[in-house]
Amino acid sequence: MEHHHHHDHEHDHSHEHAGPHVHPVTQNLKVAFFLNLGFTLVEFIGGLITNSVAILSDAVHDLGDTFAIGSSWFLENYAQKGRTTKYSFGYKRFSPLSALINSAILLTGSFFIVFETVPRLFQPEPVNAQGMLLLAVLGVVMNGAAVLRLRKSQDSVNQRTVMLHLMEDALGWIAVLIGSIVMYFTGWTVIDPILSLGIAVYIFVNAFKNLRAVLTIFLQATPKDVDIEKVKEDLLSIEEVQDLHDTHVWTMDGQYNILTVHLVLTQNRALSELPVIRDRVHQVLKQHHIQHITVQFEVPGEMCELEKH
Ligand SMILES: [Zn+2]
Ligand SMILES: [Zn+2]
Repeated sequence: MEHHHHHDHEHDHSHEHAGPHVHPVTQNLKVAFFLNLGFTLVEFIGGLITNSVAILSDAVHDLGDTFAIGSSWFLENYAQKGRTTKYSFGYKRFSPLSALINSAILLTGSFFIVFETVPRLFQPEPVNAQGMLLLAVLGVVMNGAAVLRLRKSQDSVNQRTVMLHLMEDALGWIAVLIGSIVMYFTGWTVIDPILSLGIAVYIFVNAFKNLRAVLTIFLQATPKDVDIEKVKEDLLSIEEVQDLHDTHVWTMDGQYNILTVHLVLTQNRALSELPVIRDRVHQVLKQHHIQHITVQFEVPGEMCELEKH
Protein backbone atom coordinates (compact mmCIF):
# COMPACT_ATOMS: atom_id res chain seq x y z
CA MET A 1 0.00 0.00 0.00
CA GLU A 2 2.85 2.40 0.79
CA HIS A 3 3.87 2.32 -2.87
CA HIS A 4 0.70 4.11 -3.77
CA HIS A 5 1.92 7.28 -2.10
CA HIS A 6 5.39 6.95 -3.54
CA HIS A 7 4.52 6.23 -7.11
CA ASP A 8 4.94 9.88 -8.11
CA HIS A 9 8.70 9.56 -7.74
CA GLU A 10 8.95 6.66 -10.13
CA HIS A 11 6.32 7.72 -12.62
CA ASP A 12 6.88 9.51 -15.89
CA HIS A 13 4.85 12.71 -15.87
CA SER A 14 5.32 13.60 -19.52
CA HIS A 15 2.03 12.02 -20.63
CA GLU A 16 -0.09 13.37 -17.82
CA HIS A 17 -0.50 16.95 -19.03
CA ALA A 18 -3.72 16.18 -20.93
CA GLY A 19 -5.75 15.87 -17.73
CA PRO A 20 -5.22 17.14 -14.24
CA HIS A 21 -6.09 13.96 -12.34
CA VAL A 22 -7.34 11.30 -14.71
CA HIS A 23 -4.90 9.31 -16.81
CA PRO A 24 -5.85 9.93 -20.50
CA VAL A 25 -5.47 6.24 -21.42
CA THR A 26 -7.78 5.28 -18.56
CA GLN A 27 -10.22 7.95 -19.71
CA ASN A 28 -10.27 6.53 -23.27
CA LEU A 29 -10.76 3.01 -21.94
CA LYS A 30 -13.63 4.18 -19.77
CA VAL A 31 -15.41 5.79 -22.75
CA ALA A 32 -14.71 2.74 -24.95
CA PHE A 33 -16.00 0.40 -22.23
CA PHE A 34 -19.35 2.17 -21.82
CA LEU A 35 -19.82 2.56 -25.61
CA ASN A 36 -19.15 -1.15 -26.12
CA LEU A 37 -21.33 -2.19 -23.20
CA GLY A 38 -24.20 -0.05 -24.49
CA PHE A 39 -23.83 -1.35 -28.01
CA THR A 40 -23.66 -4.97 -26.80
CA LEU A 41 -26.97 -4.50 -24.99
CA VAL A 42 -28.52 -2.89 -28.08
CA GLU A 43 -27.33 -5.89 -30.12
CA PHE A 44 -28.73 -8.52 -27.73
CA ILE A 45 -32.10 -6.77 -27.67
CA GLY A 46 -31.93 -6.03 -31.40
CA GLY A 47 -31.04 -9.64 -32.16
CA LEU A 48 -34.06 -10.88 -30.21
CA ILE A 49 -36.44 -8.35 -31.80
CA THR A 50 -35.26 -9.02 -35.38
CA ASN A 51 -34.97 -12.78 -34.65
CA SER A 52 -31.50 -12.69 -36.21
CA VAL A 53 -28.84 -15.16 -35.04
CA ALA A 54 -26.22 -13.18 -36.99
CA ILE A 55 -26.89 -10.13 -34.79
CA LEU A 56 -26.85 -12.32 -31.66
CA SER A 57 -23.46 -13.77 -32.70
CA ASP A 58 -22.09 -10.29 -33.04
CA ALA A 59 -23.50 -9.47 -29.63
CA VAL A 60 -21.47 -12.36 -28.17
CA HIS A 61 -18.39 -11.06 -29.94
CA ASP A 62 -18.94 -7.55 -28.58
CA LEU A 63 -19.54 -8.94 -25.11
CA GLY A 64 -15.98 -10.32 -25.34
CA ASP A 65 -14.67 -6.94 -26.54
CA THR A 66 -16.47 -5.21 -23.67
CA PHE A 67 -14.95 -7.61 -21.14
CA ALA A 68 -11.47 -7.14 -22.64
CA ILE A 69 -11.74 -3.33 -22.53
CA GLY A 70 -13.23 -3.44 -19.04
CA SER A 71 -10.42 -5.58 -17.70
CA SER A 72 -7.70 -3.39 -19.21
CA TRP A 73 -9.42 -0.36 -17.73
CA PHE A 74 -9.47 -2.09 -14.35
CA LEU A 75 -5.85 -3.22 -14.71
CA GLU A 76 -4.71 0.25 -15.74
CA ASN A 77 -5.73 1.42 -12.27
CA TYR A 78 -4.45 -1.71 -10.58
CA ALA A 79 -1.02 -1.62 -12.24
CA GLN A 80 -0.30 1.71 -10.51
CA LYS A 81 -0.40 -0.05 -7.17
CA GLY A 82 2.88 -1.75 -8.03
CA ARG A 83 4.24 -4.53 -5.84
CA THR A 84 2.86 -5.58 -2.53
CA THR A 85 4.12 -8.04 0.04
CA LYS A 86 1.47 -10.50 -1.08
CA TYR A 87 2.05 -10.01 -4.83
CA SER A 88 5.80 -9.41 -5.00
CA PHE A 89 5.72 -9.35 -8.81
CA GLY A 90 2.98 -6.71 -8.84
CA TYR A 91 -0.29 -7.20 -10.69
CA LYS A 92 1.03 -8.08 -14.14
CA ARG A 93 -0.40 -11.63 -14.10
CA PHE A 94 -3.90 -10.20 -13.75
CA SER A 95 -3.73 -9.31 -17.43
CA PRO A 96 -3.28 -12.90 -18.72
CA LEU A 97 -5.82 -14.00 -16.11
CA SER A 98 -8.48 -11.73 -17.57
CA ALA A 99 -7.50 -12.90 -21.08
CA LEU A 100 -8.02 -16.49 -19.88
CA ILE A 101 -11.48 -15.68 -18.53
CA ASN A 102 -12.35 -13.82 -21.73
CA SER A 103 -11.25 -16.76 -23.92
CA ALA A 104 -13.44 -19.06 -21.84
CA ILE A 105 -16.45 -16.73 -22.27
CA LEU A 106 -15.91 -16.48 -26.03
CA LEU A 107 -15.32 -20.22 -26.58
CA THR A 108 -18.50 -21.00 -24.64
CA GLY A 109 -20.28 -18.25 -26.57
CA SER A 110 -19.22 -19.59 -29.97
CA PHE A 111 -20.45 -23.12 -29.09
CA PHE A 112 -23.73 -21.61 -27.92
CA ILE A 113 -24.10 -19.79 -31.25
CA VAL A 114 -23.41 -22.95 -33.28
CA PHE A 115 -25.93 -24.84 -31.15
CA GLU A 116 -28.59 -22.17 -31.80
CA THR A 117 -27.71 -21.61 -35.44
CA VAL A 118 -27.28 -25.03 -37.06
CA PRO A 119 -31.01 -26.01 -36.85
CA ARG A 120 -31.82 -22.76 -38.67
CA LEU A 121 -29.73 -23.77 -41.65
CA PHE A 122 -32.27 -26.54 -42.30
CA GLN A 123 -35.29 -24.62 -41.14
CA PRO A 124 -34.68 -20.92 -41.75
CA GLU A 125 -36.84 -18.62 -39.64
CA PRO A 126 -38.18 -15.28 -40.83
CA VAL A 127 -36.05 -12.31 -39.77
CA ASN A 128 -36.66 -8.58 -39.76
CA ALA A 129 -34.21 -7.58 -42.52
CA GLN A 130 -34.95 -3.87 -42.14
CA GLY A 131 -34.12 -3.96 -38.43
CA MET A 132 -30.93 -5.90 -39.19
CA LEU A 133 -29.96 -3.30 -41.76
CA LEU A 134 -30.46 -0.54 -39.20
CA LEU A 135 -28.26 -2.34 -36.63
CA ALA A 136 -25.63 -3.08 -39.29
CA VAL A 137 -25.46 0.60 -40.28
CA LEU A 138 -25.04 1.47 -36.59
CA GLY A 139 -22.32 -1.18 -36.26
CA VAL A 140 -20.39 0.08 -39.30
CA VAL A 141 -20.64 3.69 -38.08
CA MET A 142 -19.52 2.87 -34.51
CA ASN A 143 -16.59 0.70 -35.60
CA GLY A 144 -15.64 3.09 -38.37
CA ALA A 145 -15.61 6.05 -35.95
CA ALA A 146 -13.40 4.10 -33.53
CA VAL A 147 -10.97 3.18 -36.34
CA LEU A 148 -10.74 6.82 -37.47
CA ARG A 149 -10.16 7.98 -33.92
CA LEU A 150 -7.35 5.48 -33.34
CA ARG A 151 -5.77 6.22 -36.71
CA LYS A 152 -4.69 9.66 -35.48
CA SER A 153 -2.55 8.21 -32.70
CA GLN A 154 -1.21 4.98 -34.08
CA ASP A 155 2.07 4.89 -32.21
CA SER A 156 2.13 1.62 -30.31
CA VAL A 157 1.94 -1.98 -31.46
CA ASN A 158 -0.97 -2.43 -29.11
CA GLN A 159 -2.96 0.35 -30.77
CA ARG A 160 -2.31 -1.13 -34.21
CA THR A 161 -3.59 -4.49 -32.96
CA VAL A 162 -6.73 -2.82 -31.61
CA MET A 163 -7.25 -1.00 -34.91
CA LEU A 164 -6.88 -4.17 -36.96
CA HIS A 165 -9.43 -5.82 -34.69
CA LEU A 166 -11.85 -2.92 -35.15
CA MET A 167 -11.40 -3.11 -38.91
CA GLU A 168 -12.23 -6.83 -38.84
CA ASP A 169 -15.31 -6.01 -36.77
CA ALA A 170 -16.32 -3.36 -39.32
CA LEU A 171 -15.91 -5.91 -42.13
CA GLY A 172 -18.20 -8.28 -40.21
CA TRP A 173 -20.82 -5.56 -40.00
CA ILE A 174 -20.48 -4.82 -43.72
CA ALA A 175 -21.19 -8.52 -44.36
CA VAL A 176 -24.31 -8.30 -42.17
CA LEU A 177 -25.32 -5.11 -43.98
CA ILE A 178 -25.03 -6.72 -47.43
CA GLY A 179 -26.73 -9.88 -46.16
CA SER A 180 -29.70 -7.95 -44.79
CA ILE A 181 -30.14 -6.04 -48.07
CA VAL A 182 -30.10 -9.31 -50.04
CA MET A 183 -32.59 -10.87 -47.59
CA TYR A 184 -34.83 -7.82 -47.84
CA PHE A 185 -35.11 -8.15 -51.62
CA THR A 186 -35.00 -11.96 -52.02
CA GLY A 187 -36.36 -13.33 -48.74
CA TRP A 188 -33.50 -15.87 -48.56
CA THR A 189 -33.45 -16.00 -44.76
CA VAL A 190 -30.89 -18.84 -44.77
CA ILE A 191 -28.31 -16.06 -45.20
CA ASP A 192 -28.81 -15.14 -41.52
CA PRO A 193 -27.57 -18.47 -40.03
CA ILE A 194 -24.75 -18.57 -42.61
CA LEU A 195 -23.55 -15.13 -41.46
CA SER A 196 -23.95 -16.25 -37.87
CA LEU A 197 -21.76 -19.32 -38.39
CA GLY A 198 -19.13 -17.18 -40.12
CA ILE A 199 -19.03 -14.88 -37.09
CA ALA A 200 -18.93 -17.88 -34.72
CA VAL A 201 -15.90 -19.31 -36.56
CA TYR A 202 -14.20 -15.91 -36.36
CA ILE A 203 -14.87 -15.71 -32.60
CA PHE A 204 -13.70 -19.29 -32.04
CA VAL A 205 -10.45 -18.96 -33.99
CA ASN A 206 -9.47 -15.72 -32.22
CA ALA A 207 -10.41 -17.03 -28.77
CA PHE A 208 -8.49 -20.26 -29.39
CA LYS A 209 -5.37 -18.34 -30.46
CA ASN A 210 -5.60 -16.12 -27.36
CA LEU A 211 -6.12 -19.11 -25.09
CA ARG A 212 -3.04 -20.84 -26.48
CA ALA A 213 -0.92 -17.70 -26.00
CA VAL A 214 -2.21 -17.22 -22.45
CA LEU A 215 -1.58 -20.84 -21.47
CA THR A 216 2.07 -20.63 -22.55
CA ILE A 217 2.38 -17.69 -20.12
CA PHE A 218 0.87 -19.64 -17.22
CA LEU A 219 2.96 -22.72 -18.09
CA GLN A 220 6.06 -20.50 -17.92
CA ALA A 221 7.19 -21.30 -21.44
CA THR A 222 10.11 -19.36 -22.90
CA PRO A 223 8.60 -16.13 -24.29
CA LYS A 224 8.12 -15.94 -28.06
CA ASP A 225 10.39 -12.92 -28.44
CA VAL A 226 13.31 -14.54 -26.56
CA ASP A 227 15.74 -16.94 -28.26
CA ILE A 228 17.19 -18.73 -25.24
CA GLU A 229 20.02 -20.40 -27.20
CA LYS A 230 21.14 -17.02 -28.53
CA VAL A 231 20.91 -15.57 -25.00
CA LYS A 232 23.24 -18.29 -23.68
CA GLU A 233 25.60 -17.81 -26.60
CA ASP A 234 25.79 -14.06 -25.98
CA LEU A 235 26.33 -14.53 -22.24
CA LEU A 236 29.15 -17.00 -22.92
CA SER A 237 30.76 -14.46 -25.24
CA ILE A 238 31.39 -12.18 -22.23
CA GLU A 239 35.12 -12.46 -21.54
CA GLU A 240 34.85 -13.23 -17.82
CA VAL A 241 32.12 -15.86 -18.20
CA GLN A 242 33.43 -19.41 -18.49
CA ASP A 243 30.21 -21.36 -18.27
CA LEU A 244 26.57 -21.06 -17.32
CA HIS A 245 23.73 -23.24 -16.10
CA ASP A 246 20.22 -23.14 -14.66
CA THR A 247 19.02 -20.59 -17.22
CA HIS A 248 15.31 -19.79 -16.89
CA VAL A 249 13.30 -17.28 -18.89
CA TRP A 250 9.60 -16.67 -18.43
CA THR A 251 7.15 -13.83 -18.89
CA MET A 252 4.72 -12.17 -16.51
CA ASP A 253 2.22 -10.98 -19.11
CA GLY A 254 3.75 -11.54 -22.55
CA GLN A 255 5.73 -8.30 -22.40
CA TYR A 256 7.63 -8.20 -19.12
CA ASN A 257 10.24 -10.99 -19.31
CA ILE A 258 12.27 -12.38 -16.43
CA LEU A 259 15.54 -14.31 -16.47
CA THR A 260 17.58 -16.11 -13.83
CA VAL A 261 20.97 -17.68 -14.53
CA HIS A 262 24.08 -19.00 -12.81
CA LEU A 263 27.31 -17.74 -14.36
CA VAL A 264 30.62 -19.48 -13.66
CA LEU A 265 33.43 -16.92 -13.93
CA THR A 266 36.80 -17.65 -15.55
CA GLN A 267 38.91 -17.44 -12.39
CA ASN A 268 38.56 -16.24 -8.84
CA ARG A 269 37.44 -12.65 -9.25
CA ALA A 270 37.57 -9.90 -6.71
CA LEU A 271 34.19 -8.80 -5.37
CA SER A 272 34.92 -5.32 -6.65
CA GLU A 273 34.97 -6.63 -10.25
CA LEU A 274 31.47 -8.06 -10.09
CA PRO A 275 29.52 -4.84 -10.76
CA VAL A 276 31.40 -4.38 -14.06
CA ILE A 277 30.68 -7.96 -15.14
CA ARG A 278 27.05 -7.59 -14.10
CA ASP A 279 26.76 -4.43 -16.20
CA ARG A 280 27.95 -6.38 -19.23
CA VAL A 281 25.42 -9.10 -18.50
CA HIS A 282 22.63 -6.53 -18.26
CA GLN A 283 23.69 -4.92 -21.52
CA VAL A 284 23.60 -8.28 -23.31
CA LEU A 285 20.20 -9.18 -21.88
CA LYS A 286 18.63 -5.82 -22.67
CA GLN A 287 19.01 -6.66 -26.36
CA HIS A 288 16.99 -9.82 -25.78
CA HIS A 289 13.81 -8.14 -24.45
CA ILE A 290 14.53 -9.16 -20.86
CA GLN A 291 13.50 -6.59 -18.26
CA HIS A 292 14.08 -8.41 -14.97
CA ILE A 293 17.40 -10.14 -14.34
CA THR A 294 18.76 -12.20 -11.44
CA VAL A 295 22.33 -13.48 -11.75
CA GLN A 296 24.27 -15.76 -9.46
CA PHE A 297 28.03 -15.70 -9.91
CA GLU A 298 30.01 -18.85 -9.17
CA VAL A 299 33.70 -19.63 -9.00
CA PRO A 300 35.22 -22.34 -11.24
CA GLY A 301 34.95 -25.83 -9.75
CA GLU A 302 32.21 -24.85 -7.32
CA MET A 303 29.69 -27.61 -6.64
CA CYS A 304 26.25 -26.24 -7.48
CA GLU A 305 23.09 -28.16 -6.70
CA LEU A 306 21.35 -26.73 -9.76
CA GLU A 307 24.08 -27.54 -12.25
CA LYS A 308 21.86 -29.23 -14.80
CA HIS A 309 21.76 -27.40 -18.09
ZN1 LIG B 1 -14.45 -6.86 -31.82
ZN1 LIG C 1 24.83 -22.91 -10.05
